[in-house]
Amino acid sequence: MSDDETIFEKIIAREIPARIVYETDAVLAFLDANPLAPGHTLVVPKEAYERVGEMPDDVASEVFAAVHELTPKVEDAANADAVTVGINDGEAAGQEVPHVHVHLVPRFEGDGGGPIHAVAGDRPDLSDEELDAIADEISDAEA
Ligand code: 5GP
Repeated sequence: MSDDETIFEKIIAREIPARIVYETDAVLAFLDANPLAPGHTLVVPKEAYERVGEMPDDVASEVFAAVHELTPKVEDAANADAVTVGINDGEAAGQEVPHVHVHLVPRFEGDGGGPIHAVAGDRPDLSDEELDAIADEISDAEA
């Protein structure tokens, strides 16, 4: 678990205000203060973990259950056509608040945004051997 308190822990503790849209014992969801679209929602575990892989199984399950329930609700509430569901997992991926959070960003036909594929830099040109090696590395890794 993270040591330093983040802004999200203050929201969870009701020390600072937020527009809370969902709550269980383990999860809170609230509107993003600087939304990329109307209805942009953040889903967070109440316990403070910085990275996705640090969450215990039960917490990760509860977070995804909330994402599963909220995604269509957010889409409907925003009268959107779709939702981009994403996590900036680590600073190099753009994570600014070091407390795991799932972004639910309502999307609209012609909104000028892009798919998840737009977030990475130049695409690598990988050989079959390199693809096999990284696949093995992932599949053989300890849980
Ligand atoms: P990250 O870049 O870490 O994936 O996203 C952090 C998100 O938290 C940003 O979209 C930002 O607008 C949002 N955020 C930062 N501070 C606050 C806050 O005090 N309240 C709320 N509701 N959202 C915040």
